[in-house]
Order: sequence, then structure tokens, then C-alpha cells
Amino acid sequence: MGNVLAFCEFQDGALRSSALSNLAFARTAAEAHGGEVVILLVGHGAQAASASAAKFAPKVVVVDDAKLEHYLAETYAPILADQAKALGAAIVSATATAVGKDLMPRVAALLDAGMASDISKLAAKNQFVRPILAGNAYSTIEISSPIICVTPRQSEFEPAAELGSAGAVSTAAAGTIDSKGAEFVKLDAQKSDRPDLGDAKVVVAGGRGMKNGENFKVLEELADLLGAAMGASRAATDAGMVPADWQVGQTGKIVAPNLYFAVAISGAIQHLAGMKGSKTIVAINKNKDEPIFQVADYGIVAEWEKAVPELIAEIKKLKATR
Ligand SMILES: Cc1cc2nc3c(=O)[nH]c(=O)nc-3n(C[C@H](O)[C@H](O)[C@H](O)COP(=O)(O)OP(=O)(O)OC[C@H]3O[C@@H](n4cnc5c(N)ncnc54)[C@H](O)[C@@H]3O)c2cc1C
Repeated sequence: MGNVLAFCEFQDGALRSSALSNLAFARTAAEAHGGEVVILLVGHGAQAASASAAKFAPKVVVVDDAKLEHYLAETYAPILADQAKALGAAIVSATATAVGKDLMPRVAALLDAGMASDISKLAAKNQFVRPILAGNAYSTIEISSPIICVTPRQSEFEPAAELGSAGAVSTAAAGTIDSKGAEFVKLDAQKSDRPDLGDAKVVVAGGRGMKNGENFKVLEELADLLGAAMGASRAATDAGMVPADWQVGQTGKIVAPNLYFAVAISGAIQHLAGMKGSKTIVAINKNKDEPIFQVADYGIVAEWEKAVPELIAEIKKLKATR
């Protein structure tokens, strides 16, 4: 029997939606190991998110300390390792977000544990499926260490639903917090009223065919009508048309919204690796032979200059009738 310790990121007193994919994985793993899911919330403000977390697991452990206000792998990793030992965890997991990918290898090192990164499926108790070659093939890996650290991909696990009753919340001390010389300097985040790209249910992404940053304004109008996040291909971000943190793909963000618009994006494998898990994909491209149409559920062969304003006008009309 082994428990699954699920490290969950939170924001404004609630779990981030990316954490719900980790919990979906954690439930499957707990079943395979005959244990239970224990949510671990770490950081200043963790206590405030505990009620939201308790809806998703029978146990929630909170480590809340003012010194943990800003995430640093150096200070967080020992807390995860200590809690994993204290709870007899067989698996320690965190969604493969920027934080999860940064944190979990260090936790694995502290626990002398095997690490399964970016996994798409639990094949058996200690076997994990993960995409390789930019998502063109899948490999199954087996890990034999007593504790295993895992980062499940958000795009591959349906968000966990709430349980019928709330779990028990307990607190634990952070212990000695030692940043080992690392220091949080500042957070340089783009201020936006739009949802976070990793959490958004709708994403509107543009590519090189948008030609310049000014032209993205029409996509932003579409995004705002739909309550969507903005995304882009690497060609668009590398050209400086839009901020780098909009990049979707193998070396950008992996997203799996309900609806993904790919506008003037050709559909290179590195881009597809970041968005092909989207539930519905709409492609707008002037060239009908582009690979994006092979993954698209709806394809519009047209110049975006014509198709996007028409789409906006139709959405506005529909909204006006509601
Ligand atoms: C190691 C590595 C990692 C990479 N990681 C990523 C990644 O994470 N994300 C990523 O996106 N890319 C990544 N790339 C780059 C990738 O290979 C492609 O170069 C990139 O995705 C192309 O972006 P694009 O589709 O915007 O541009 P293009 O391939 O140039 O496509 C532009 C498209 O716009 C269309 N178009 C032009 N004008 C119009 C118009 N008026 N109306 C409608 N359509 C129009 C064209 O038909 C074309 O399909 C990576 C590459 C490497 C080697």
C-alpha cells in the first residue's frame, strides 16, 4: 500500500485548474497502489486554499509560512521530500507546469527516487507512458525505486471532479527554510485580464502569417469575445510580434483547452506537440495543404484578414441575441 502525495499549485485561495489534472493522475495511481491521495499545499497563502483543495482528496496537508511567499525550488523541494517520507508516499506528483518541471527532479534527487517526466498515462503501478520525439512516438518506462516522482501532463488527464465530501485538512511545519544562496529577485509577469494560457478553456493563437504584432489585435478582440487566452507559434514569438510567454509547443506551453484557434499557423510538429490534446481545434489558413488541417476539427481555408473579422461579427450577432 502506498499513498500518492500530490503537490498542487494554487492561486487566490483556490487550486489552479492545472492542479486538477495532477489529481486525476494521482487518483489512478492511488488506486493502483492501494493507497489514498494526499494533497500538499506549500507556500504563503496555502491555508486559504485548503478548503478548495479539500473538495478533491480525503487529506490535505498545508505548509504555510511567510518565508515561502515566493516559489524557489531550493526551499520547496525539501518540504516535499520530508512530507513524502512522513506520509509513506509511493508516488509524489506535480503537474508538468513550469513549477512542476523545475521542482520535481530536485525532490527526486532528495528522495533518491526515480523520475517519470511529462507522462501521458499510467500503464501499470510503476510503468509510465510518455511522449518522445515531439509527440510522434510514445515510450513506456518502468521505475523500480521505492518512491517515484512523476510530472503528469495537463493535456493528457481530464481535470478531476470534486468528491462528495470534503477531506481532512492538517498543517505541517516547514522546518528549516534554507534557500542555499538562491534569492527571489522579482516576478516579471505580463499583466492581463485574460485567463492564464495553461488554465484557459479557450485559446486563440496566431502564427507567422499574422505578419506583425499590430495584426494580433484582431485575434485579441476574438479572444476577449470568447474569454480566451492568447497563444502563438514560436515563429511569431521569436519575431517579437507577441510576448514570449504566449508560445505554445514543444519548447513553449502545453495546452489542452476545450477550443483552440490556430490562425495563420502551419502546424509544425513542434507546435502540434503543445496543442494537439485540445478538444476542438479550429484552423484558419490560406493554404489548404498545411499540416494544421490534419489535426483540425474545423478548417477554414481563407486569409485571416477576411475570416477573422467575419467570425467576430458573427459572434457579436449571436451574443446580441442572448
Ligand atoms: C527544437 C525546436 C523547438 C521548437 N519549438 C516550437 C514550439 O514550442 N512552438 C512552435 O510553435 N514552434 C516551435 N518550433 C518551430 C517550428 O518548427 C515552426 O518553425 C513554427 O511552429 C512555425 O510557426 P508558424 O506556423 O507560425 O509559421 P509558418 O510555418 O511560417 O506558417 C505560417 C502560416 O501562415 C499561413 N498564412 C500566411 N499568411 C496568411 C494569411 N494571410 N491568412 C491565413 N494564413 C496565412 C501560411 O499558409 C502558413 O501556414 C521549434 C523548432 C525547433 C527546431
